[in-house]
Amino acid sequence: MASKSDNEHKALPSSSSLSKLLKDAKTNTTVSQSPSTASKPKPQKKTSQKLTVFVDLDGTIVDTDKAVFKALKEHPKYPEFKDELDKVEKEGGVEFPPTVDVVAKHIMAQPGFFANLEPIPGAIEALKAMQDKYGYDVWFLTAPVKHGIEECVKGKMLWVKKHFDLGKETGDVRWVDKVIIMKKKRFIGGGPVRGHFVLIDDTEQGVEPQIYFKGRRNAHLEDVPRIHSWATWETDFLACLPSIVGPVN
Ligand SMILES: [Mg+2]
Repeated sequence: MASKSDNEHKALPSSSSLSKLLKDAKTNTTVSQSPSTASKPKPQKKTSQKLTVFVDLDGTIVDTDKAVFKALKEHPKYPEFKDELDKVEKEGGVEFPPTVDVVAKHIMAQPGFFANLEPIPGAIEALKAMQDKYGYDVWFLTAPVKHGIEECVKGKMLWVKKHFDLGKETGDVRWVDKVIIMKKKRFIGGGPVRGHFVLIDDTEQGVEPQIYFKGRRNAHLEDVPRIHSWATWETDFLACLPSIVGPVN
């Protein structure tokens, strides 16, 4: 009894019959096409107007400051930088003073620091609503720290996995696959989503458009669009969206 593969082999045409078949097919195709059909342009793919939302981690959805300030206040050298730290806590600021910064960098370089940070209340629910309720394409856009970069990158991926993907069925789009870790966030503006995206970040990134998540790193900026808290994000975000990115589907 012939096997399936034998029959398939026998069914194959010889090289001369194949040439004839190809020639006939070419002739038939040409004849069957009317001039109007041949000159018709191919239908274009419909361009999606889905808004892409890039969201920062530290200080925007992750309460990095809470853990850093706590560790700084428990540090043996705290009496040496207490006044400077109090000033930052009270008045805000983009960077820590050098005396505080060196200790803060050491704290953030510790294994498990980033993976174990607490989310800012309401942030996880807000991002899920952006994607599921509003249909935005949500991505994480976060910068690595210079000291202890390996722990930082690993910790941030673990954090996203823990708070967004744990317990999800396989086959779903994984949030951890939507983490972009890059130092110079301004380069995102030159990407394929140009013109129809927005960045939510607590620090000025040189990205346009940006909506600020209210915090000490943007306290000095006036008249910038802000999300004041994740409890009010829908009102804050939707109110400023049309003026900075135009109509959104
Ligand atoms: Mg930040």
